[in-house]
Amino acid sequence: MTDLAPLPAGSGCRDVPVLKQRGQREVFCGLTGIIWLHRKMQDAFFLVVGSRTCAHLLQAAAGVMIFAEPRFGTAILEEKDLAGLADANVELDREVARLLSRRPDIRQLFLVGSCPSEVIKLDLARAAERLSAAHAPHVRVLNYSGSGIETTFTQGEDACLAAMVPVLPATDARQLLVVGALPDVVEDQMLGLLADLGVGTVRVLPARRSSALPAVGPNTVVVLAQPFLGDTLAALERRGARHLPAPFPFGEEGTTQWLAAVAREFGVPSQTFDAVTAAPRARARKAVAAATETLRGRSVFFFPDSQLEIPLARFLTRECGMTAVEVGTPYLHTAIVGPDLGLLAPGPVISEGQDVDLQLDRARAARPDLTVCGLGLANPLEAEGLTTKWAIELVFTPVHFYEQAGDLAGLFARPLRRKAVLKAGVPA
Ligand code: SF4
Repeated sequence: MTDLAPLPAGSGCRDVPVLKQRGQREVFCGLTGIIWLHRKMQDAFFLVVGSRTCAHLLQAAAGVMIFAEPRFGTAILEEKDLAGLADANVELDREVARLLSRRPDIRQLFLVGSCPSEVIKLDLARAAERLSAAHAPHVRVLNYSGSGIETTFTQGEDACLAAMVPVLPATDARQLLVVGALPDVVEDQMLGLLADLGVGTVRVLPARRSSALPAVGPNTVVVLAQPFLGDTLAALERRGARHLPAPFPFGEEGTTQWLAAVAREFGVPSQTFDAVTAAPRARARKAVAAATETLRGRSVFFFPDSQLEIPLARFLTRECGMTAVEVGTPYLHTAIVGPDLGLLAPGPVISEGQDVDLQLDRARAARPDLTVCGLGLANPLEAEGLTTKWAIELVFTPVHFYEQAGDLAGLFARPLRRKAVLKAGVPA
């Protein structure tokens, strides 16, 4: 067995009072999710209906060469569209027809709403229906919102996957559905572990290609790979699927607990579980231990951003020896992160939502060794002498399951090591 921190007495942080704040927020918009979703879904195209600002955000975030054929683009709303002087629907139909004739490889087209399209109340749901009818059966057109009005950046993936659920085929088969976009190499590791455990039919959402879309029904058991998929989970439950709550597969403990929840559900014998997990667990513990030398005894403060904060705080405090001062999350879905909250020892402030000035005051007063926050806050806090980690990197980098546990710990150790090197006056 592992030599992890003992389980916290009682229910951990499950029942501690939550500091709820509703003020100014500093977050990225949901368009950001396109960066990892377009890599995952190989016959999909994401057409943002937005402004030049939206196009710039995507280009900058993706760093795509203009000569490449990326699987996303922006239908720019010009001033005449925004002023209502042109019929944006006619222009959208024309752009989509042009795109699809040029790119016959596209089988799923997502119309992605933005702040500008929402401000002019462009009905992308109706547009998607119209375009789906026009381009069926070769292409299915769906829509979701990636706008920055009332969202945080990981909600883009949630909105995208939730939009797919109503069109998934139906099934009565008993199966496990793993939900959340994982890099292919990580997904293959996970599928290998589940196959070795003898879990029967395992499907994933999103699938790499539209021909592999999973079916869903009353005998589908859903386990989430990402904690920010509340709307997708609700949509799957409306289709009859059942949620299997589990800690998220970050670190050795999180991965073991996630797999153990699945193993219990599918009746995997404990000897099989131990035989399958022993070697990768040992590797993960060793890899985490290497980074833990830097992290042990240090304090961490999470600003709300990626919605990964609760599971990551669990990982950093229980596996890496850190102390959490505040764990802020944009939304607290206890049905989803409850198992991680239960493993988190009482002590940190658990906060939901944001009033950024008040939260900055708390961070300045606490002077944590490491602050995990969005890009907009990182530079100012660095200028004040705090050491920061960009939350968005945690979504762009493979961090799930055993083989990535060391990399995950390393992501947090790196800024602390860099700060130490700079302090010592040695070039980093
Ligand atoms: S969707 Fe809104 S927040 Fe996001 S880039 Fe476009 S205008 Fe900016």
